[in-house]
Amino acid sequence: MTATRSPQRPRAAFIGLGAIGAPIAHHVAQNTTLAVWNRTRSVAAEFAAETGARDAESPGSAAAGVDFLLTCLPTSAQVEEVLFGVNGAAPSLESGAMVIDCTSGDPATSRKIAARLARSGVAFIDAPVSGGVSGAVAGKLTVMVGGDAGALERARPILERFAGKIVHCGAVGTGDAVKAVNNALLAVHVWSTAEGLSALSKLGVDPAVALDVINSSSGRSNTSINLFPERVLNRSFPRTFRLALLDKDVGIAAGIARETGTPAPLLDETSRLFAEARRELGEEADHIEAVKVVERRAGTTIGGRIQ
Ligand code: NDP
Repeated sequence: MTATRSPQRPRAAFIGLGAIGAPIAHHVAQNTTLAVWNRTRSVAAEFAAETGARDAESPGSAAAGVDFLLTCLPTSAQVEEVLFGVNGAAPSLESGAMVIDCTSGDPATSRKIAARLARSGVAFIDAPVSGGVSGAVAGKLTVMVGGDAGALERARPILERFAGKIVHCGAVGTGDAVKAVNNALLAVHVWSTAEGLSALSKLGVDPAVALDVINSSSGRSNTSINLFPERVLNRSFPRTFRLALLDKDVGIAAGIARETGTPAPLLDETSRLFAEARRELGEEADHIEAVKVVERRAGTTIGGRIQ
């Protein structure tokens, strides 16, 4: 029989206290009996000291007796690893518990994980987020959910702690799919805005002037309105979302297009370009640093005169 659990003061575990996982976990920690696990244990110890959460010694220990296990890891491969690997969380989860995966994952692996957990009565929803680190800190993320509608209703009180908007996209994997397509659009905007502004710079047009026009015209995007003025023109390139993760997202989107028989030459090319940029800039570069690759190829610097 499936246990009935109170959402009032839930028992939860959180795995993956990275750039976006940590601020999400801070919201989850409120009015929750929380255990945390992080690969680099000092990060979990520091989080525990700040919030009163328990710093668990393994994913299995963190997951013991919880109602909800939240994961926020780079890819679905790491989610599988912390669930089913050595000292993994899955054997500790009781029937009636739920895994809420905030990773921007891949739909096929999420479906596989959900099926495997279902055998022991554990529910799974993919619940990737958008809104960036600032949205996570503000508790205003958009959460796109794939999974059973009943499971979403059970998870809603937890999701509401860090969400400004919750959207049910469909069955397991559809949250991941929508997230991948959204981020592929981000990647297209970053690369194409960099190409366009590089060309305009070489023509002698001040990129700030060009953005002033674009941002009151039909070519505008979040990238041109916020990212370029705040991160490129002033050359600050803050590290908030790794390029390696955006490369992964575009690859997932291009894969979905292939699997569904959807010709997507633009997504394929964007995926190829971001994979090249990742090889060139490394695993720690921010996604906006892809602009530097475009600039290097063009032999110019966008906003280089504005320091
Ligand atoms: P980070 O790289 O900052 O953090 C990754 C986390 O996963 C860290 O806690 C890291 O531990 C842990 N980790 C990495 N590899 C393993 C492993 N093999 N086993 C166990 N734990 C591991 O990523 P983000 O927090 O930025 O991103 C997490 C997810 O959220 C990704 O899927 C990303 O695409 C998505 N996302 C990120 C956004 C952002 O703005 N940053 C926005 C929206 C979605 P350790 O501390 O040891 O490195």
